[in-house]
Amino acid sequence: MKQTLTVLGSTGSIGCSTLDVVRRHPERYEVFALTAAQRADEMAAQVREFAPRYAVMTDPAAAKKLQALLPCGCETKVLTGTRALSEVAEAEEVDQVMAAIVGAAGLLPTLAAAKAGKRVLLANKESLVMAGPLFMDAIREGGAELLPIDSEHNAIFQSMPADYNGNLEANGIRKILLTASGGPFRGRTAAELSDVTPAQAVAHPNWSMGAKISVDSATLMNKGLELIEACFLFNCNADDVQVVVHPQSVIHSMVQYCDGSVLAQLGQPDMRTPIAYGMAWPERIEAGVESLDLFDIARLNFEAPDEVNFPCLTLAREAFQQGGTMPAVLNAANEIAVDAFLQEQIRFTSIPTLISSVMKQHQVIAADSLDVILAADEWARKTAESVLAEGTL
Ligand code: NAD
Ligand code: MG
Repeated sequence: MKQTLTVLGSTGSIGCSTLDVVRRHPERYEVFALTAAQRADEMAAQVREFAPRYAVMTDPAAAKKLQALLPCGCETKVLTGTRALSEVAEAEEVDQVMAAIVGAAGLLPTLAAAKAGKRVLLANKESLVMAGPLFMDAIREGGAELLPIDSEHNAIFQSMPADYNGNLEANGIRKILLTASGGPFRGRTAAELSDVTPAQAVAHPNWSMGAKISVDSATLMNKGLELIEACFLFNCNADDVQVVVHPQSVIHSMVQYCDGSVLAQLGQPDMRTPIAYGMAWPERIEAGVESLDLFDIARLNFEAPDEVNFPCLTLAREAFQQGGTMPAVLNAANEIAVDAFLQEQIRFTSIPTLISSVMKQHQVIAADSLDVILAADEWARKTAESVLAEGTL
């Protein structure tokens, strides 16, 4: 029996890597739905190749354009609007949902997949950061399977006991070692960072990714979001997760056990490895990724993160520790800040200043419903926009 897949964010970096794994295994997987925001040309090419039942373009103009690009007689139904994202994620025919929309826009369809009991392949870390406890409850209550796709969390998952029950100590685990490349600006001081450009920030040394996560990697916010992601996924405290800068990105993360053992997962910096792992788990399938040549790599280096010049990691840890609505506020403020930086409205070093200013103005409350979380997200975006409008950054 083939596994039926919905790919949320199919035209993005993770979406394309996912479809490459599907392409290699036509006997195992078939595509039920593909979704994207705007890029109709790319979507049209994907529809022609994978013949999904549905193609969703959330932007109505893009949906129109897609329809015009498809040959008449094409059996793929074109849908538009954000509600359609959840519909194709929760549809009965679907076995697996790749959650690869970027940012808070991924929350509702990812949650819909969880509630509907799908295998959720989670790349969209922002949805877990915003709504961690609610999301993990939805997974449990919906009887869903949650497979982390973020390379670090996939590595931790692979290095954990197969029957890990959410208690580090009971499983003999001392610490999770979350590796970070350090991004393109590792080693620079705040003064040296103040005039870096968006083009420099998105040029990651090891990974090829979408613009937003590339900037997050450069500020270390990506590692901050991943720290929160790890705490929710593996049910632990911020103190249980140690960030280790490892510039080669060969080790994708590690688990340290009470007997002194450290288990790690190593591999090329190619997202098809964790994607194929998640799709086929507990089996392993060919992912199109070359084996590591350890002689070629020769050495692995490690250093502590520089949280003085890259304060986003500290902000994320604080947001998790404050709990409630604060992680959603951190995430929303970061999305606005990264956007403003990419549009050259603010400097790179103003990203943490803006986020910190929004966090300071926030009154934390319990994040016990989706409405509360969405309201906090909206409040943080508006507050960040008004800080931007003051023009004092
Ligand atoms: P990307 O920018 O390359 O692609 C984003 C996709 O989401 C596109 O298909 C786009 O059309 C869609 N999209 C964007 N905004 C949308 C909206 N408002 N509504 C509906 N769809 C929308 O991003 P990416 O690099 O593939 O990252 C996707 C997610 O995976 C992010 O959450 C990121 O943090 C996570 N992730 C990515 C990588 C990577 O290597 N790229 C690694 C780990 C985790
Ligand atoms: Mg990652």
